[in-house]
Amino acid sequence: LIILGIETSCDETAAAVVKNGREIVSNVIASQIESHKRFGGVVPELASRHHVEQITLVIEEALKKAELSFEDIDAIAVTEGPGLVGALLVGVNAAKAIAFSRNIPLVGVHHIAGHIYANRLVKEMSFPLLSLVVSGGHTELVLMKEHGDFKVIGETRDDAAGEAYDKVARTLHLPYPGGPHIDRLAHEGAATIDLPRAWLEDDSYDFSFSGLKSAVINTLHNAEQKGISIDPKNMAASFQASVIDVLVTKTLKAAKEFKVKQVLLSGGVAANKGLREELEKAFAPIMDIELVIPPLVLCTDNAAMIAAAGSILFEKGKRSQYSLNANPSLDIEHF
Ligand code: ATP
Ligand code: MG
Ligand code: FE
Repeated sequence: LIILGIETSCDETAAAVVKNGREIVSNVIASQIESHKRFGGVVPELASRHHVEQITLVIEEALKKAELSFEDIDAIAVTEGPGLVGALLVGVNAAKAIAFSRNIPLVGVHHIAGHIYANRLVKEMSFPLLSLVVSGGHTELVLMKEHGDFKVIGETRDDAAGEAYDKVARTLHLPYPGGPHIDRLAHEGAATIDLPRAWLEDDSYDFSFSGLKSAVINTLHNAEQKGISIDPKNMAASFQASVIDVLVTKTLKAAKEFKVKQVLLSGGVAANKGLREELEKAFAPIMDIELVIPPLVLCTDNAAMIAAAGSILFEKGKRSQYSLNANPSLDIEHF
């Protein structure tokens, strides 16, 4: 089974070929970060234009690297949502055009299902499993009892983890995207500043990061007014410690409660070194739960993960119509 995956939900134009759902044959990513950097975030209109310019080249490159042609492709998997509508539309329309002209089956994929299935490119899944999804737009605990079945048991009530990283980075005058910069600074500093942890209700697996973000901003502002200087390294370390503490504690608790066999780390913030280390520490003593963490290139947006999720959906019989549309608020529990 050879699937061509296409991903254009945000600021990466990506195409990949995946064999049998688990084997990456090619994985091409054209990042737009340099273009958005000077605006301090992703500019949707600019993202769409870049996707239009890049999509054909990226798909051709993915096929060329795989030494395959469209005749060899069994199905096309494309991100249908969530994401920026104008960005999603470029991938969806490219996928539909290829599917129609070459008579290849089309499979619409949920972007976060893709992030989760990045893990299957590393390790076969065993159910039930729990995925901690931490990305630019999502912070969720997703329980899976079988392939293609996603149940959200906890989610963010305000900012996503990646969003909090990027906003805090901005207040520390770090370039966009700020996550990797905070991660690096955090390792050079010490968590000496007392910041809140939003545990929420005892039985809740939900998250909240806006209070933490405000606490960072207020602490910096108050210090500035009093003429006290705060080392950005220590602020980064303190912020990161608070985020990781909550993420790891809730993931561990849910993994035990739902008696899962695996815990999968997914999404762009999964590239965070501190988070990877602390999760490994937390799960090391737990013999009957396997922790899976993808390599960095599969954590941030890519099309191999979309092809991986698409392979399973295709095998389960999912086919999308030529009327497939971009859906910026697609729900992972029903798609
Ligand atoms: P979503 O997947 O929710 O639609 P997205 O696709 O924009 O959002 P991703 O590409 O999955 O998000 O992840 C990007 C986010 O990951 C950014 O917020 C970025 O700052 C964050 N990130 C990347 N590397 C790191 C890191 N090392 N530490 C913390 N955050 C990181
Ligand atoms: Mg991105
Ligand atoms: Fe993403």
